[in-house]
Amino acid sequence: MNKLSMYKTILGYMEGNIKWPIYAPMPGQLVTQALIHCSQCRVMISGNMGPRNDAWCVPCTDEGIKATAKEKVVARKKAAAEKIAAKKKIELEAAAKKKADAEAENRRI
Ligand SMILES: [Zn+2]
Repeated sequence: MNKLSMYKTILGYMEGNIKWPIYAPMPGQLVTQALIHCSQCRVMISGNMGPRNDAWCVPCTDEGIKATAKEKVVARKKAAAEKIAAKKKIELEAAAKKKADAEAENRRI
């Protein structure tokens, strides 16, 4: 990493993934003269270095990450609720079996 790359401006991300940033061009860098638009909100990310059809602007990436985190929380809560429901079902089945066994025992006596 050279000294300049530490100060690179991030314009957006590829496919909304923070692992693949789109950096602003460095001074003297050769670039294509084609626009990059955000694939989510259509805002212009850059006037050059395009075309890219899978770019996301920084706000959309942030929103996407938040939405993904929210989905994960919802999924985790749902899984926990299902686990509790399954446990309850097993307990109810065990209680019903116990009751049936007790009734059978009473009939024998
Ligand atoms: Zn956007």
